[in-house]
This record gives sequence, C-alpha cells and structure tokens, in this order.
Amino acid sequence: MKRKLSGIQLARRISLGFFLTFATVATILHQKLQNIPNVDSFCPFGGIETLYKFIAGGELLKKLEISNIFLFVSVTILAIVLSRFFCGWICAFGALQGIFGRLGRAIFKKRFTVPAKLDAVLRYLKYVILALILIWTWQAGTLVIRPYDPWAAYGHLSAGFAEVWAEFTVGIVILVLSLVLSMLYERAFCKYVCPLGAFNAILGRIPLFRIKREASTCTSCSLCNKSCPMNIEVMKADKIDSPECISCMECVTVCPTKKGTLKTFLAGKAIPLAAVAAIGLAIYFAPIAFGHVTNTIRFRAATLAELQTKGSLHVEDIKGSSTWQQVADSFGIELERLYREAGVDAKKVPADAKLKDTGSLTGKDFEADAVRFAVAKILGVPYSGEGGEKPAEMAPAKETPAAPASAPAAASASSFALEGTMTVSDVAAGTGMGAGEVLKKLGLPADFPKDKPLREMKDQYGYTMPELKERWAK
Ligand code: SF4
Ligand code: SF4
Repeated sequence: MKRKLSGIQLARRISLGFFLTFATVATILHQKLQNIPNVDSFCPFGGIETLYKFIAGGELLKKLEISNIFLFVSVTILAIVLSRFFCGWICAFGALQGIFGRLGRAIFKKRFTVPAKLDAVLRYLKYVILALILIWTWQAGTLVIRPYDPWAAYGHLSAGFAEVWAEFTVGIVILVLSLVLSMLYERAFCKYVCPLGAFNAILGRIPLFRIKREASTCTSCSLCNKSCPMNIEVMKADKIDSPECISCMECVTVCPTKKGTLKTFLAGKAIPLAAVAAIGLAIYFAPIAFGHVTNTIRFRAATLAELQTKGSLHVEDIKGSSTWQQVADSFGIELERLYREAGVDAKKVPADAKLKDTGSLTGKDFEADAVRFAVAKILGVPYSGEGGEKPAEMAPAKETPAAPASAPAAASASSFALEGTMTVSDVAAGTGMGAGEVLKKLGLPADFPKDKPLREMKDQYGYTMPELKERWAK
C-alpha cells in the first residue's frame, strides 16, 4: 500500500522541486535574454574550482561570477553544520536523479543494488575525481572539466541539441548515463562520481549533525534501510556517521515505532526534523541574501544599453549573450566595421545573432573575446583579454574611420590582437611573421601544431590564454 508522505518528506520534495525548477528556468532565460547569468554561475562547485585563483589574485575563472564564491560559502557552512544536507535537500542534479529513480522504481518494481564489495570501492572514486579536478583546474586556470560536466550540459539543453552536442559531447553522454543508471541504482552519480558530493562528505565528517538509533525500541522492520537512497544500513547502526548520508531524513520519517527510535541530533542535542530543515535552508540562503542585499550578487545583470546610459560601459561587459547589433549600438561603432575587425563574415551572421552563436553560424571556432578585442581596437582602449586587468571606465567613443578595403592584412606584432580562436598560421599571416618567429614569441615548442586554435592546445601545452597574450604583448 502506498504510504502518505509526512510533512517533512513533502517539504523536501518541494525544496528539491523548487531548486530544480529555478535552475531550469534560469538556464532557459539565459539562452533567451541578454542579461541572465549562465548555469555555471549557479553552481557551488564553481566556487571550489575558482578558489585558488580567487585567493591568489582576487580573480575568477572565466564564466564564473562572484555568486559562485557566495554559494561556496553557503555549501561549506552547510556541510560543516548539517553534513550533506545540500545533497538531500537542495541540489538540482540530485533532484533530477531522484525523479529518474522514482521512474525506475515505477517501471521495474524493484530496487537494484551494486555488489557490496564493488560498491565499497566505487564510493571512493568521487574523492579521486575531486582531487584530480582541483589539481587540473588550479594548474590550468580554466574550467577544464566544463565539457565533461553533465550539469553544464543540462543547463545548455535549451540552446538546442546540436549546439549542446558540439560543446558538451562528453557531458551529454555522462548526463544520459547518470539519469539512466539512476533508474536502476538510486543517485548513482551522487554515490560514485560527484566531486561536490565528495567535498560535502569530507566536511560532513565533522560530527555536528547525526542521526541516532535507539536499539531497544527498534523492531528491525528494515523500512529505514529500504527508504535510504544511499543504501546505508540504518537498521544495524547505533549512529549514522557514514559520509554517504545525505541528511534526507527519509529513514527517520518512515520509522513506524513512533517511539523516537531514530532521532536527529545537532551538537549533541536532539532536534526536531522541521528545525533541521529550517536551519539547513536558512544557512544556504543567508550568504546569498547577504550578497544580494549588498549588491554583490546580481540575479539580473545590466544590459549594455543600460550601462551605456549610466556611462559605465566597459569592453569586459560584452557577453556571449549580447547580439552584434547591441554591441555596435552601445559602443557607437559601425556594425560592418565590428564584423570586419572581429574577422567575421557579416553575410553568415545576422545583426541580431548572439555572439556565442557566431561559431555555429560560421562553422568556425569563435569566442566573444574576439569581439571585445575588436571593440577595444576600434575605440583605442586597452584590453588584455579575459582574466586581464580592467581598464579605466570608458564612455562610448566615436569610432575611428574604417580601414580602407585595400589595407594590407598584415599588422605589426605589437598591435596584433592575439585570440584563442587563432592558429599559429593565422597569427603568422596576420602579422607577416614566420611561423617559427610566432612560436618563439609565444614561448611554444617547435612541434606545436600550426593549424590548431591556440585555446584548444592550452591544456596539452600547459598555458592559459591570458599567459599567452602576456607573452605576446612583451
Ligand atoms: S552528490 Fe553531487 S549531484 Fe548528488 S546531490 Fe550531492 S552535490 Fe548533487
Ligand atoms: S541514512 Fe537516513 S538520512 Fe541518511 S541518506 Fe539514508 S535515509 Fe537519508
């Protein structure tokens, strides 16, 4: 017989549903509107990835926002106080797996389990993944795992499958695998793969929050075991101190003894379930609310036109979600000139196309940074690429006259704006230098492929684009 949901179970489902809906709607709006933050800026794990760069130099990894730091603070305090409460109550990807888990139970009418020994070994995998990601990301100074991130892939589905597939092929495969596996093995991604789950599990070792079992009133009905999405043997434990526990409290709510056999404790004191939920959500929202009140976190960024009206427009404010026309209008630049300086065929890219769609329209790699460099060049203001220094505030300036059509393609090395989408051959052609000279100036080895975009080779050759631009500028 189907059991009625308790108040706390209902509250958990509403909480998970809210965060999943919020994240999904935000990702759709990000694709449709110019000034809604991207999915990466909603992920607390981004805060962990950018932490090293943020502490070292006060800068964030590309695509991340200060909101990632606030979310990181929320999740860290939450994990210290209530263990993996974030996983059980807030994580939108956990919610998505939960939906597929229920679907699987409805279809297969049974619960599958991974053999115990294999399961025990696989649970360590997420810690290895966490360590590798942090080492790799902190060394490279970019979001190196983004193409493999199933959540980033999910967040871009509204851009259309072709675009997501091109940018997140591996991420899509992992997303589909995780959801299909969740139908058979509940929260398979959380148990074995998730680096944020591993981070929470490590902090959850601090024993502030625990569920305890009173053996004298336990009837060994095993309902707690069956209800646990993380397959923890609640029925045999005196205290749940497994790092796998996601503080969902399903076990406590299904216990039929009604004698307090399973109870929640915070800092050694028994605490009602509703109080755990309220404290958990309050801890999560408090830093975000602080960021919003102090105007540090923006849920809606100002548009280019609004910034121009306020007189505080910067080249850095150009986003992938800006259209070509918006950039041209806001900076007072002739659209044709903008296309030309950015090296884009105007016939293939309509004025109302977003910058981030330029690559798929032209069939070539393209980054919004190329437009920032083009605007900076036209207006004659300094711009050193993403991660570089922010120039002084700049009012829209009159554009300089367009170069005559017959102007030679080659530019001097010092004035040539290096971009990640360029190959060594492109740079050589654009500057009139030899490919060997370009490699030497960039500090790259002679075997460096001349026909590959520079940004594609950065992980293999251990540089970042800001570093390369710095070498080029010297
Ligand atoms: S383990 Fe990862 S995916 Fe699962 S709920 Fe926790 S943070 Fe979300
Ligand atoms: S032990 Fe209880 S609180 Fe922990 S994950 Fe399992 S059901 Fe949820």
